[in-house]
Amino acid sequence: MILDPQFECEDQQRLLEKIIKPRLSSLFMRVYDQFSYYKWRFDEAGIRPEDDPLEVLAKLPFMTKRDYSMLEEDSMILADKRLFHVETTSGSTGRPKRRFQSMTDEINELRLAMRVLAGFDISKDDVVVFMDVGNPSIYIWFAKALEALGIKNTIYYGIQSDFNLSLRKLIKLNPNVLFTVPSLLARSYDTIKEMFGNNNDLKKIIYFGEKLDERFRKRIENELKVEIFTHYGGTETSTLGGECSAHDGIHIYNDYNFLNLVEPKIINETTQEGESAWTTMQIDIQPVIKYRMGDVICIDYSKCVCGRTSPRIKVIARTDDGFSIYGEKFYYDTFLDAVYSKLTETGFMQLVLSTEQKHDKLVIILPEKLKNKENDIMESLYHMNELEFFLEEKFITLELKFVPNSHFTSRKIPCIIDNRNYQ
Ligand SMILES: [Zn+2]
Repeated sequence: MILDPQFECEDQQRLLEKIIKPRLSSLFMRVYDQFSYYKWRFDEAGIRPEDDPLEVLAKLPFMTKRDYSMLEEDSMILADKRLFHVETTSGSTGRPKRRFQSMTDEINELRLAMRVLAGFDISKDDVVVFMDVGNPSIYIWFAKALEALGIKNTIYYGIQSDFNLSLRKLIKLNPNVLFTVPSLLARSYDTIKEMFGNNNDLKKIIYFGEKLDERFRKRIENELKVEIFTHYGGTETSTLGGECSAHDGIHIYNDYNFLNLVEPKIINETTQEGESAWTTMQIDIQPVIKYRMGDVICIDYSKCVCGRTSPRIKVIARTDDGFSIYGEKFYYDTFLDAVYSKLTETGFMQLVLSTEQKHDKLVIILPEKLKNKENDIMESLYHMNELEFFLEEKFITLELKFVPNSHFTSRKIPCIIDNRNYQ
């Protein structure tokens, strides 16, 4: 279902002139008055908030995670009595990030979440089960958006560290839609497959928060006969988009959020690639302008078969999903491909780097069910192009560690932990 066709199916040029440019201008004028950070940025770049909005965007520098923390104090003062909610996340730099939200934010963001969830075509009779570990707050918010769409049967199902045992009763809820994060899906997949492999009631799986490995996705679709959708967003930006039933990328909602690319690469007439930077036009208390969220994406401006004209993105990589060894860059996905070389195998993987006797050490943490494949995995890793040299010259030592599912207790597993002295 397309909830707001007047925006989602509008001619893109007309949308830019009628909606996007006025919204950008009003954002610039507002933030120039209200935020010392933005005033400083505008003044330094020699631009006025009332200048042509696309020119303003072209001249303003990209905003980093460090810049984001400079908004906090102004946002707190601005929120004052309108403060409705504060979201706190650990933040990748080790310093907690805070986002202040007003009731206007809550309503605007709920509307956009409704548009994204409407695109998943969940029926009013469906039972939607949120499967996760720990704090259910994000799901309460998804449940609100679903309820606003008339889907009332939503259940939060908390998983304990004994996965198999706590998952067993999930099937008794007869879910039609399962809503979860990819790392949890990978850890619980064997049990899920056992439970739902021959069950036709489960129709859809919706994931968010992390990237889902493309081969794992195909495997789930084939084995469970389900349709898979993703919700896309971030703490600082809230919802940004979602997949439609054409399953050819994530629609972004550019009447809400404007996208710039860092050093865009032209792929063809309608497609570009680069790191995404977002401008949130509908965020009230803590808006961002050209904010680098850390995703490298591919964007396609051609019209989708679902009828929406809004561009579609595919997330290619996270900028922080890598590490370097003596200047050579390695990516998490390359290791994942080497370890899980067959389509039929999948599961979690974590890379832990440390320094041992002045040398780098890489420990790859894997599920214990792969223990009998240890030699194959080692061989496959030793044949990774760039790694081979570093291993042979003993610049780095490699170790595999096999752990039970319960090894990870938090909701999201960090892909890479870098504990080296010199990074
Ligand atoms: Zn579409």
